[in-house]
Amino acid sequence: MKPIKLLVVGGVAGGASCAARARRLCEQAEIIVFERGPYVSFANCGLPYYVGKVIKNEDDLLVASPELFKNRFNIDIRTCHNVRQVFAREKEIEVQDMNSGRIYREKYDALVLSPGSEPIRPPLEGINLPGIFTLWTIPDSRAIIQWIKSKRVKRAVVVGGGFIGLEMTESLTRLGIQTTVIEMQPHLMPSLDPEMAAFLHDHLTAGGVELRLNSAVTAFRSGKDSISVLLASGQTISTDLVILSVGVRPRTELAVSAGLRIGETGGIWVDDQMRTSDENIWAVGDAVEVEDVVTKLKRLIPLAGPANRQGRIAADNIFGDKSRPHRFRGSQATAVCGVLGMTVASTGVSEKYLKKIGQTDYEKIYLHPDNHAAYYPDAKTITFKLIFAKADGRVLGAQAVGLDGVEKRIDVIAMAIQMGATVFDLEEAELCYAPQYGSAKDPVNLAGMIAANTLNGQVAVGHWHDLSESEDYVLDVREPEEFEEDHFPKAVNIPLETLRFRLSELPRNREIWAHCFVGQRSYYACRILQQHGFKVKNLSGGFQLYPAVKAYKELLKN
Ligand code: FAD
Repeated sequence: MKPIKLLVVGGVAGGASCAARARRLCEQAEIIVFERGPYVSFANCGLPYYVGKVIKNEDDLLVASPELFKNRFNIDIRTCHNVRQVFAREKEIEVQDMNSGRIYREKYDALVLSPGSEPIRPPLEGINLPGIFTLWTIPDSRAIIQWIKSKRVKRAVVVGGGFIGLEMTESLTRLGIQTTVIEMQPHLMPSLDPEMAAFLHDHLTAGGVELRLNSAVTAFRSGKDSISVLLASGQTISTDLVILSVGVRPRTELAVSAGLRIGETGGIWVDDQMRTSDENIWAVGDAVEVEDVVTKLKRLIPLAGPANRQGRIAADNIFGDKSRPHRFRGSQATAVCGVLGMTVASTGVSEKYLKKIGQTDYEKIYLHPDNHAAYYPDAKTITFKLIFAKADGRVLGAQAVGLDGVEKRIDVIAMAIQMGATVFDLEEAELCYAPQYGSAKDPVNLAGMIAANTLNGQVAVGHWHDLSESEDYVLDVREPEEFEEDHFPKAVNIPLETLRFRLSELPRNREIWAHCFVGQRSYYACRILQQHGFKVKNLSGGFQLYPAVKAYKELLKN
């Protein structure tokens, strides 16, 4: 049998993992990878840390070289080779060697497209002025570093508060550059819900970062030794450097040239084996649309983990045992970002997204557990939100922010979501425990227990957005000293320990909103009151959620 000739377009996350897996499956195949840029298999996720001098050596970003691919895998890597067109009927691609200018065609038996996505540069006045950068490649990071050095940059503006924008904010701040983040939405990190993002806002502001939320950039102008960033509000910010991180779009030109089906979201359509609408062409990574594990809707989820897994799956389906197809399970947008010591992580759907798609059959709970046993030194609070189906308790999404232990919990929930687990499974999850790492009831167990309590009628939860501070009957069961410090304007303070003796003070003809600081004491209070015939709700997330909620409500007013 004639050996299969596999061509791969794009030599980074999805493309490189596909090519290497293909070789492990088939010694006889001819494998060529075309990469437009000068490097193959580089760590694009590490670029913000290279700019921030955490990664000191540029070479450390090069995960594998063309020589390594040749020597270890017998794969022909052609860097600085741009694939211009795909002729699907002829099973050929047209390539340009960008060094010599030579244009040639290459035949394939199987073609894998992994061209990634590209950063969006909105068509604003002045968008191409010197000093305005996107961060996507090693040359991009080099240019930013050079600009910072040569212009002695003291002030920077980051436009867009997603994870690349925030990682750059951290890097610039650590370099001593006064950084302003401009975000069009009312909150940073679009994967979070606004009240959760508010914790991040506080943290960044405390770390010296200036935030301009609900702010749209309308133009850039060149000033004397500076760049003016014009906002829709009419304000102007003067800066030395602009980093644009306002989102990405899938690269689909080659797929279009091949006549491949483009999906409803604008990404390349693929089946669950990563095969496109052409039987000889597969596509992976940022360029494709994927099925959301939770909602089953198509989405664009540009992340490194899915790209790598999809690359491997495409190779498995091209070279592996055909009787056992390898299926991509879909993606759930599990992501983590660290900013100035705070970790923000999420998996599955956010409440915002559920509202957008009109799904209402869900419930949510908030909790603020410690990352490990409170008695062990340096315990840190994690603020956690769990979203689950009302009907059967299936876990739909989770978000967490905190200084330690955040991503470990989100990873557990991510696996639970992938396995279709419920909050009752989280209650029972058996997880690592020693005082320095966790608690005998891990935050994941606690989240499951609180959620299960709400579903099985042990306690009714109430949420911050439904509470009318001026009209509802609010019972604060904290200690008087805590109450004195701050409380809801019309709250009645009856500490939990005295509650059983003061039931006569409570109304029987209206609903009581019980709360404490995090929600635990008020849960106990709810159990007491419920068993004495009161109609009562536990304010999920307690008073600890309130500074964030207030900040968010303030923002919405502006
Ligand atoms: P890429 O890895 O981008 O590779 C595509 C390659 O194809 C590019 O090198 C491009 O030059 C090449 N190419 C395109 N068109 C052609 C053509 N016509 N001919 C030849 N070559 C072509 N994800 C995370 O999950 N976690 C993170 O922390 C994270 N951090 C990131 C930080 C930065 C700064 C960036 C830029 C991305 C980050 N990502 C992160 C996203 C992650 O890197 C991408 O999701 C992943 O690399 C996508 O893999 P891919 O193979 O689809 O595309």
